[in-house]
Amino acid sequence: MNCKYLVLGAGMSGLTTAYELSRFSNDSVIVLEKESTVGGLSRTIGVGGSFYDLGSHRIHPESEKTAFDLVKETAGDLLVKRIRRGKLRLKRSYIKYPIDSFQFLRGLGPIEAFLCAAALAKSRLVRRIFGAGMIHGENNYASYLTWKSGERAYRLFYEPYARKVWGCDPSTISLSSVKKRVSMTAPLSFLKAVMANLFRSESTSFFYYIEGGIGRLAERLEKRAAANRVLIITNVKNLDLSTDGHEKRAFYHQGGLERSIAYDTLISTIPLDELVAKLGSGGDTCPGSEGIWWRGLRLVYLHVEEEPPLAGETFYFPEKRYIFGRVSIPRRFSEHMQAGISSTCYVCEIPCTVGDALWEKTDNELYDLCLRGLKAAVLIGDDAVQSREHNFVIDIPKNYPLYTVGWEKDLRRVLGCLAERYPYVYSSGKLGLFLHYNIDHAIEIGARLAEHIREGRASRAWYDNVNLFQEFQTRD
Ligand SMILES: Cc1cc2nc3c(=O)[nH]c(=O)nc-3n(C[C@H](O)[C@H](O)[C@H](O)COP(=O)(O)OP(=O)(O)OC[C@H]3O[C@@H](n4cnc5c(N)ncnc54)[C@H](O)[C@@H]3O)c2cc1C
Repeated sequence: MNCKYLVLGAGMSGLTTAYELSRFSNDSVIVLEKESTVGGLSRTIGVGGSFYDLGSHRIHPESEKTAFDLVKETAGDLLVKRIRRGKLRLKRSYIKYPIDSFQFLRGLGPIEAFLCAAALAKSRLVRRIFGAGMIHGENNYASYLTWKSGERAYRLFYEPYARKVWGCDPSTISLSSVKKRVSMTAPLSFLKAVMANLFRSESTSFFYYIEGGIGRLAERLEKRAAANRVLIITNVKNLDLSTDGHEKRAFYHQGGLERSIAYDTLISTIPLDELVAKLGSGGDTCPGSEGIWWRGLRLVYLHVEEEPPLAGETFYFPEKRYIFGRVSIPRRFSEHMQAGISSTCYVCEIPCTVGDALWEKTDNELYDLCLRGLKAAVLIGDDAVQSREHNFVIDIPKNYPLYTVGWEKDLRRVLGCLAERYPYVYSSGKLGLFLHYNIDHAIEIGARLAEHIREGRASRAWYDNVNLFQEFQTRD
């Protein structure tokens, strides 16, 4: 086989690029996907007659407009609007999520709120007397947030949150992570949030979903692309991109057979470090990829023979005492998800890193730990029993980019080398550009890359956009 454009990965960014390229020309487009279904991180899987997303997925009402237009057009009658009933567990009680500042203060209690305010005043005073440089360098997550929010609030929320989400010492985490993941860093932003809550617009209390599972969106986009003659090949294993310098060809296995495709242009949404390793066979990889670190995720699908006692579809757990960071109930996103079974599924999201203690736990150990955690969080009753025959675990080794101090330099080195050695390759998507973002951003980037390529612009110019894409604000 041969094609003009070969796309690696049928997540939302790869699929969008393939579809957008096919809309404006008759050039041949082929997509290679390692999984059996399309959608990538936002796919829906079928297990024993039930359907499950990879964790809690929603289309946010604040989505980029052009991306949301494509979602509406593609999802059609499947796009539904749902009231958001998220909850966050703080100091053994639940408050509304996204956070309502009044409830947050109440959850904190007057004494703790006073101690946090006093610690903040002290930090500001010391800084004023001695100057910023002498007290805290403001170049990493720990020092910046200690200065911004005071020592006590930092120890209470931000430090345990960082250790849980990123799994490392917060002083090694870059400031970029604060911009991406921490919305309220100072009393002023907290006050702003209080005001915003007073005049809350409807947009914070609902979300969009795709009836039957978030992955239906990608499946519908796959159909639209196929109607434009895009060929999507799933279950692709052992992808090999090494080239002898003459012909650009991808080798892979599918269904036990060895196959290959010759191409002109390669669009890759697979992890950047893997792309670089596959292109540079024989150890000749681009420098900088050793600075690309990932945080993984284990998704535990725990089924319990009990109706959930609390209202809500998603529950957030920033505190260390819970093994999971977030728990969702698929049935509450769409009643079609688990039509065939009586037990309730709780999807527990456990951030971890490949090779660490959580990553090494057996599935049975995880079921027991999650069951205990759900009981401690009073999400299920003390007597609730799990129905083990329905339980399963999905492991995602590369989920979030880990922005350690100095990561920007490493990323620039890898992309610069890619542009120089392999100008026919465009790395894109969340994993290909080392970005932290949402579905609408994946669509936006996918569409922009198709336009960039259609205009005949170079890959180096594509990588110049990375700083711009970093501005995407992640929504939870
Ligand atoms: C738990 C969780 C919850 C989330 N919740 C939300 C939410 O509520 N709202 C929201 O908007 N976003 C949410 N997101 C983010 C969203 O899912 C992603 O940003 C988006 O799906 C990324 O799309 P992508 O195409 O860039 O990357 P991916 O989806 O990662 O696509 C990359 C594709 O490449 C394939 N691939 C990898 N290696 C190979 C290989 N060697 N050969 C062939 N194919 C390969 C992968 O299988 C995958 O299909 C969530 C993500 C997670 C993990």
